[in-house]
Amino acid sequence: MKGYGGRILFVDAASGRSRVETVSEAMARSLLGGNGFAARLLLDHVPPGVDAYDPANAVVFAVGPVTDTTVPGNSRACVAAKSPLTGLFFDSTFGGRFPATMKRTGFDAIVVTGRAAEPVYVKVTEAGAEVKPARTLWGQTTRDTVTAIQGVEGADADVMAIGPAGERLVRFASMGTYWRNREGFAGRGGLAAVLGSKNVKAVVVAGARKTELADAALLKKLLDERREPLTAGTKALSTYGTPFLVKPINTLGALGAYNLRQETYPEAPAISGEEMHAHYHARDTTCLKCPVACGKQYEIRDGELAGLKAKMPEYETIFAFGSMLGNAHAGSLTRANDLCDLLGLDTITMGVTLAFAAEALERGWLAPAEVGVPFGWGDWQGMLKLVEMTAMREGFGDRLAEGAWRLAESVHPEATRVVYAVKRLEMPAHSARALKGMSIGYATASRGGSHHDTRPTPQYAQGHDRRSPDGKPEFAVKSQHFTAVDDSLVLCRFTSERGFGLYVEEPYARMVRAVTGWDVTVEELERIGERVINLERIFNVREGVRRKDDVLPWRVMHEPIPDGPSAGMRCPPEELSRMLDRYYDLRGWDADGVPTRARLGALGI
Ligand code: SF4
Repeated sequence: MKGYGGRILFVDAASGRSRVETVSEAMARSLLGGNGFAARLLLDHVPPGVDAYDPANAVVFAVGPVTDTTVPGNSRACVAAKSPLTGLFFDSTFGGRFPATMKRTGFDAIVVTGRAAEPVYVKVTEAGAEVKPARTLWGQTTRDTVTAIQGVEGADADVMAIGPAGERLVRFASMGTYWRNREGFAGRGGLAAVLGSKNVKAVVVAGARKTELADAALLKKLLDERREPLTAGTKALSTYGTPFLVKPINTLGALGAYNLRQETYPEAPAISGEEMHAHYHARDTTCLKCPVACGKQYEIRDGELAGLKAKMPEYETIFAFGSMLGNAHAGSLTRANDLCDLLGLDTITMGVTLAFAAEALERGWLAPAEVGVPFGWGDWQGMLKLVEMTAMREGFGDRLAEGAWRLAESVHPEATRVVYAVKRLEMPAHSARALKGMSIGYATASRGGSHHDTRPTPQYAQGHDRRSPDGKPEFAVKSQHFTAVDDSLVLCRFTSERGFGLYVEEPYARMVRAVTGWDVTVEELERIGERVINLERIFNVREGVRRKDDVLPWRVMHEPIPDGPSAGMRCPPEELSRMLDRYYDLRGWDADGVPTRARLGALGI
C-alpha cells in the first residue's frame, strides 16, 4: 500500500514481548490512520469499564498516510488511550520530528499495554520493539529524559517522554518530544499518566523507511496550487504564533477571565502576542519541514524572571494562566508554560483548575490553610508554586492533580457549578457562550471540553452568525468530520485549515488520491470522518455516556456573559436540548445519543 508502513506493533510492557499485525487495505481505506486507527484499536483492545490505570488500558501512537510526505505540517502523530481525567476515549496530537521518524520505522501504529515491574522505555525500530531499563531516568524532566535517551540511542532517534507528573499519575499529565528546541506536546487528557501507570518513561523511535507516494506529480501540483493561500493564511501564526488571537478574541468579548465570570479582560493587551513578541521574541522554531514556523522561543529580559529562556506560551496557555486567573504578568505565563512542559502537565487543565481554586478560596469553600501557600487572583508567584506542587503531588498539589471537577466535588456540594469543564475535561479559550457552534460542539465532543473536536476557526470568520443556534448542529457535525479526517491523515491543524480547507473538501480528496492511489471522493472522506466519530461514541457509550452527559458547564447554561460585546449570551438548557435533538437526528443516533444499528451498519461498523 502506498502511503503506509502497513504494520501495527503491539508491545506488552510487562513481559517485554511484542507482535506485529498487518494493516489490511480495507482497514486503511476505511479509517485512514492516526485518529481512525486509534479509535478502532482502543475499541477492540481495551475491555469496557477498566480503570484508565489498569494494565489492560492501551496507549496507541499512530501516524497516517500523509505523515513524512512533502505536505506542509505532515510531521504529526496521534496518541490515544482511555483518559484518566474523563474515563472516556481520548486522543491528542503532537508535532516535532517524532511523527516522521515513527513513520520511518514502518509501523503505522504502536500499541503499548501491560505494566512493567520497573521503569522502562520502549524503543521501536524497523525490526520491532525492545523494552529497556529506565530506572535512572525516573524523576527526570521531559527535556532531560529526551536528552539522556538520545545520548544513548543517537541523535537520529526521537523520544516522547513523560515527566514527574506522569510518573505520579497526575490526571492531566502531558508528554513531550524535543527537536532543535521545537517542543511537540501531547497535552490533553492525561495520556502521559497512563504511560506512567505502565512504568513507561518514554517511547523511542528510529528508522529509515521511506513513504512511497502513488502519484508524486499530482501531490506536487496540489501543493504548488495551495502554497499561496497557505502562506497568506498563516502570516499571523508565522509572525506571532497562536498568541495573535488574544486581542481579537478579547475584542469580541469572548476571552474567558476570572474563572469565566467575565469574557473581557481589560489587561489583555499586556499579554497579547504583539506585546510579548515585541519584548521577548528570541527566535522562531518549527516542526520538521514546515514553512510556517509558528513556534517561538522567548527570552525574558526584565523583572523577577529576567534571564528565563523558554518556549512561548500558546494562546490557550495565556488564557488558562493569564485571563482566567486575572494574571497579566507576561513573564510568569512563559515560566508557567515552561514548568508544565518540563514537569509534564497540560497547561489548559492546570490553569483552569487553578482558576477554580481561586474562586473557591474567594467563596470560602477552600481555606487558605488548606492551600498552604499564598494564592488568589493575579498572584503569579503562588500560581507557579502550585504548578510545581501539582506535578509532585505535594500538599494541596495532590488535590489539584485530580483536575477541577474532582477537586470541586471535594470542596462543596455546589462547587461543580463553577467548574469550566465538559465531561470533566477543562475547557480551552474559545467561548462556549459567545460562539453557539462551540456550545453544541463541546457538548457533543468525544473528548469533552476540547476545541479540536468542533473547530472555532470558522466561527471567527466574517459572515458567520455566532449568536444564533440555527444551523449549528449541522456545523458541529461537519466540523467534527473534518477534525476526525484531519487527525487521521495526520495533519497539523494550522497548515491544513489554512492551506487546504476548513471542512472535508476537494483538496483533501486529491491529497489522499496522490498519496495512496485510491480514487477517493470528498463524500468517501466525509463518511470516514463519520465512521471515526461513531467508533469514539461507541467507546464512550460502552462507558455509560448518554444524553445526560452531553451538557455544558452550569455557568455557560445559566449565567449570561455580564458585559462587553457578547453581553447577555449563554446557552440555556432548553436551547441546548433543541440543538441536541437535531444533532442526534443528523447523526442517526437515538434520542438518548446512542448510535443506531442501522447507522452503524451503513458505516460498516
Ligand atoms: S504550523 Fe506550527 S505546529 Fe503546525 S507543523 Fe508548522 S510549526 Fe508545527
